[in-house]
Amino acid sequence: TELLAKPIEKIRTQLEDLQKADASLIRVLDLLGTKPKITDGPGALLPSGPLSVRFNRLTFAYEEDGEPTLRDLDITLRPGQTLGLLGRTGSGKSTLARLLLRFYDPQEGSIELSGVDIRNCKLHELRSGVAMVTQNIEIMEGTVRDNLTLFDDRIDDGKILAVLKELGLEEWYASLPDGLDSILSSGGGSLSAGEAQLLAFARVFLSDPGLVILDEASSRLDPLTENRIEAAINRLLEERTCIMIAHRLSTVQRADQILILESGRIVENGSRAALAGNPDSRFSRMLAVGLEEVLT
Ligand code: ADP
Repeated sequence: TELLAKPIEKIRTQLEDLQKADASLIRVLDLLGTKPKITDGPGALLPSGPLSVRFNRLTFAYEEDGEPTLRDLDITLRPGQTLGLLGRTGSGKSTLARLLLRFYDPQEGSIELSGVDIRNCKLHELRSGVAMVTQNIEIMEGTVRDNLTLFDDRIDDGKILAVLKELGLEEWYASLPDGLDSILSSGGGSLSAGEAQLLAFARVFLSDPGLVILDEASSRLDPLTENRIEAAINRLLEERTCIMIAHRLSTVQRADQILILESGRIVENGSRAALAGNPDSRFSRMLAVGLEEVLT
């Protein structure tokens, strides 16, 4: 990040200058329907270790006067807990995840991480405390090392190798021409889908965030990779607060809490054990019918 800090800062000041120079441009952009700008917070810090999560009566619409995509959400997650987020396509799961990383701000309500309103954090602070693992991992043109550490030079090679080993990527590592100095192409063309996902997990283990948002892949990989990914998810959940957008029963079974979204509203929320034990809950009906069946 340090390597990038200067150029990014420069671009930011240039953008700010531009905006000051031409406020009318901003009004034009507003008229064209661009979203309100996300501004850096004053610099509140997140504690280290697992974070607690709280959504306070949060309502969010993509369009300023449009129908809310998320309505009146109250969510509380204690440090180290795992939330299984369930809901059909379009119910608002990814939107909820994007709000946690402040790609957008809610119109009403707030999100607090360990008591800190995320709007008070610098964006880089927030985004180093909260990691998102999705099916589409971003690989940039550059060395394996840089792709895994994202330029954090406090992470030494020994630690990287230990994590690769733990994730079952030793063979992949052994096949690289120059070890950690091997160059990956942008988009990760040379990687299999399974390898790319495991590298995404390696990134998370190395950056050690206080909250992980996991958007589980819905497509199937080969059984060996599946096992490795399952083991990686288990490890991930052990010591971290985690919000899982879950597609599989095996993953859902590891959640402490279950939250079901329907058209942007919470229709069920509670401990997994309690919901699974109640034959009238939506969750136990989902389990009976099969998750894959209900969630597509
Ligand atoms: P899920 O992750 O549960 O499939 P999403 O959060 O992706 O749901 O989408 C929730 C709703 O918000 C959908 O109706 C979707 O069309 C809408 N939506 C998602 N992204 C955007 C966007 N960038 N702009 C406007 N509407 C969006």
